Amino acid sequence: MPEVTTDVDAAVRVLRAGGLVGLPTETVYGLAAHARNPEAVRRVFAVKGRPPTHPLIVHLPDASHVGRWAAEIPAALASLADALWPGPLTVVMRAAAEVPAEVTGGRDTVAVRVPAHPLALEVLRRLDDGLAAPSANRFGEVSPTTAAHVVADLGDDVDLVLDGGPCLVGVESTIIDLSGETPEVLRTGAVTVEELSSLLGTGVTLWSGEGEARAPGMLASHYAPHATVYMLDDAAASTEIATGLPGEGSIAVLAGTTTELDQVRSGLAGLAHRLVDLEPVGGPEGFAHDLYDRLRQADRLKCTAVVVVAPPPQGVGAAVRDRLARASSGN
Ligand code: AMP
Ligand code: MG
Repeated sequence: MPEVTTDVDAAVRVLRAGGLVGLPTETVYGLAAHARNPEAVRRVFAVKGRPPTHPLIVHLPDASHVGRWAAEIPAALASLADALWPGPLTVVMRAAAEVPAEVTGGRDTVAVRVPAHPLALEVLRRLDDGLAAPSANRFGEVSPTTAAHVVADLGDDVDLVLDGGPCLVGVESTIIDLSGETPEVLRTGAVTVEELSSLLGTGVTLWSGEGEARAPGMLASHYAPHATVYMLDDAAASTEIATGLPGEGSIAVLAGTTTELDQVRSGLAGLAHRLVDLEPVGGPEGFAHDLYDRLRQADRLKCTAVVVVAPPPQGVGAAVRDRLARASSGN
């Protein structure tokens, strides 16, 4: 099993030598490699089983590093970076010629962010360079939000895991593309579309999901546990899915409150003996914080299904709903 530590020096040594580190950030744990080392970056793809055309986000120590990765710094960056970095916002811009093609997936754009986690920032400052870090899980599966999740997912395929405790946000960063004519949000996260519009003083569109070319890696099916996910807008809708649930195995129930749990239980009264309550997660922030841990728990309990009462789309709730929709796509 990989070394699990809080030793930043050890992590920097591994990264300088071309190794891979499980890196805590405020969103999810990353599988970090020195972004200027193509061989190390290729290993990230191999370990994850990620298609090489899905570009990686470059994590930077601070906004002053952007010039080393961008061909030109978008005018709109300053207001976003001042307000939101370090924080869960990734910005896509035209890439500098020397950015390895492994990082950009061969595109002419690069995605960068400054993460808000003291250990990640300390590693980045000591390295004084960028780290390519997608989530530290196998491709298509649930992102890790604790060091233990990383070890469980990747084992010895990661050289060292830096333990920074549970991730504060719990879902992946918001991605805004500033490389085109108008700013476009490619993925929702804790930073909302409304917040971005108001900081930029212009309308910001949310990418429709049409066309893989626009946002490679934003697959319809992603973030999925082994159990089949059933997403409900409201607990009362549980009656409508009763007949469609798997015929065998335990069914986990995840909701914000115990009241909603009880409503699902009464909606699925005929299946009472198969239902397993997961601990309620509270409002949108709590949902984001605990979502992946609960989905993993459903898998550990060998549930065949997870019924989730989604949070309202306010704040990070929109991102939680997006991840649940992807996790349940194909049902
Ligand atoms: P993650 O899966 O959290 O590592 O986030 C990576 C995602 O960011 C990719 O799947 C893309 O959708 C997006 N992304 C990263 N780099 C670029 C880029 N150069 N151009 C457009 N989108 C990008
Ligand atoms: Mg991921």
